[in-house]
Amino acid sequence: MSRTIPLEKVRNIGIMAHIDAGKTTCSERILFYCGKNYKLGEVHDGAATMDFMVQEQERGITISSAATVVSWKDHQITLIDTPGHVDFTAEVERSLRVLDGAIALFCAVGGVQPQTEQVWRQSEKYEVPKLCFVNKMDRIGADLMGTVDEIRDTLRACPVLMVYPIGKADSFEGVVDLLDMRAVRFEEESRGVKLLYSEIPAELRTACEEARHQMIERAAEQDDALMEKYFAEGTLSNDDVVKGLRKGCLARKLVPVYCGTAFKNKGVQLLLDGVTRFLPSPLDDGIVHAHDNPADTREPRDDAPFAALAFKIVADKHMGRILYMRIYSGTLRVGQTVLNSVLSVDGRIGRIFRMHANHQEAIEVAMAGDIVAVAGLSRTRTGDTICDPAHPIVLETIEFPAPVMAVSIRPATRNDNEKLGTALHTLASEDPTFSVTYDQETSETIISGMGELHLDVLVDRLRREFGVGCEVGRPEVAYRETMTVPQEGSYKHIKQTGGRGQYAHVCLRIEPQEAGRGFSFVNEVKGGNIPSEYIPAVEKGVIRALESGPTAGYPVVDVKVTVYDGSAHEVDSSEHAFVEAGRQCFRQLFLKGEPELLEPVMDVEVTVPEDYMGAATSSICQRRGRIEGMESKGVSRIVNGFVPLAEMFGYSNTIRTLTQGRGSFTMHLERYEAVPYEMAEAIVEKRKKENKVRG
Ligand code: GDP
Repeated sequence: MSRTIPLEKVRNIGIMAHIDAGKTTCSERILFYCGKNYKLGEVHDGAATMDFMVQEQERGITISSAATVVSWKDHQITLIDTPGHVDFTAEVERSLRVLDGAIALFCAVGGVQPQTEQVWRQSEKYEVPKLCFVNKMDRIGADLMGTVDEIRDTLRACPVLMVYPIGKADSFEGVVDLLDMRAVRFEEESRGVKLLYSEIPAELRTACEEARHQMIERAAEQDDALMEKYFAEGTLSNDDVVKGLRKGCLARKLVPVYCGTAFKNKGVQLLLDGVTRFLPSPLDDGIVHAHDNPADTREPRDDAPFAALAFKIVADKHMGRILYMRIYSGTLRVGQTVLNSVLSVDGRIGRIFRMHANHQEAIEVAMAGDIVAVAGLSRTRTGDTICDPAHPIVLETIEFPAPVMAVSIRPATRNDNEKLGTALHTLASEDPTFSVTYDQETSETIISGMGELHLDVLVDRLRREFGVGCEVGRPEVAYRETMTVPQEGSYKHIKQTGGRGQYAHVCLRIEPQEAGRGFSFVNEVKGGNIPSEYIPAVEKGVIRALESGPTAGYPVVDVKVTVYDGSAHEVDSSEHAFVEAGRQCFRQLFLKGEPELLEPVMDVEVTVPEDYMGAATSSICQRRGRIEGMESKGVSRIVNGFVPLAEMFGYSNTIRTLTQGRGSFTMHLERYEAVPYEMAEAIVEKRKKENKVRG
């Protein structure tokens, strides 16, 4: 079977936007214009197609990273949903990893808002070429040029206007297409939106000519041959302009800018033309490399060995567990055996689906550049590589930040008990930034995530989607434990209480590791002093101690543990005895090694009107924060600082009260730092009282 759409006509894109800028409305319009949708659903009446989950509609935030396929003018566009809220970092990271290009959407009144700035920076890290769409041109105060200035100044990009607005706010009618130099107005019909072309209004002529001139100059600058042509002829053909701008866009030297109003159905079609003209196809992205061997590559060709990245797992009510994957090279067929090269396990592809907004299409074959959902491969996790068993390759995985906030959760009734466990397991397998731990001593289940909103949404899903009644405690900071001074020592686990005794003797060395290194375990036992079959038991014991740290019951990070000696007894030694010896030996040494409690420190950015700058600065300092910088942006001031997460509870209310509702803030994890000594002591005391510290 050969492909129906040539690879150069495939676009895998995401829309990045601040909450409320109109991403849902815009995505929905795209689905509509691309003919896959039945009717125009407004976000207001909750009929928007991209919002699969109920609470997304209620909260107006888009969480799911659904990949939806549409077609526009003989191109195949896959829209990968990218959330605007920073609590959903995992979704942003994974979508940026698999998309080739993005639309950055702005509200024409709000301009460049802090969260968009953050996602923009993330997208630069992944070298994603972008277009801009300035939405809500129909609103009072809409300011296209102001937003364009901010794209230049705040985002440090080079914006190139592709359209020029006709009218503004209430009287916004349409745009002048600066490539074709004609006015485009939009007429809503029962079955779609018709584009009406006419001459440029006389009063806009000069401004449009100037903007077109700028556009041609930017295009010429991208390429020596075009520059020569431009000098010789004083202008460029439209084909050459598109060629130049495309080159600049792909090299991330410029961003074409469109404007309109998704809500009033004006301007989105031209944006779609922009997507097909300027954003990359999988061919432009070229080859992918093996993570540990850049010389081992895969080309975006259907006849190359198959290689794909699993980027999302969803528990679908009807289809069961499905896996979204981006195919980088080769062809995938139903029934084919593939290799998960990270786990080294083979699996069979059950079914393959192409996801549309409101239905799934079962397909037999998927090819290079496609983003598809597959059933089967039950062990595969987010970030794993799936490939041809005859040509194994491991692509770079997707890194997710560790959870920073935790809350205890209890089933509301006995009946809910089992359901809760299953539902939590499902949610955790979908979302790599969500983790579940069970504390046997206190019979408490603790769930951890990226922030209050993240956990709220998950608890909401438990109740609605899974129908589990549950009660949650107060959210708490997810502290960690580590140690600072290397220690060496031994422990003997001996019990002689009638019957068969227990004997295990281990000698461990434990050392602090560089932050972020996690845990490593080394076996240096010589001469079988501890028989090799018991070494895994020692490691298991250490891991148990790590899960509930000796100081305060928090997870232990960044330690290296070496088992270098010990002894065993022919009759009395057992796996159980070595687990216990490993656990106790680690605990004792850890407590001697000057342990520290670590806390998440957030990078906080507060935006306030000028008059409230003092209040914003002191609100950071009062929270054990450090000011890192201050900046002006129009009439606003931005204060940037590092503040421990523990001090940030309820900050959104504080900042609202302090600034009479005119300030806002964003934050994300910067790093983990040691908790000041006295505070750490108080936390340890509290945890001991709550029975959270094990002996
Ligand atoms: P999201 O949070 O970015 O997904 O934004 P939504 O698409 O949910 O839109 C947020 C609100 O802005 C909704 O009430 C929309 O109806 C409204 N909205 C979206 N686009 C426009 C627009 O172009 N003009 C106006 N006036 N409102 C819009």
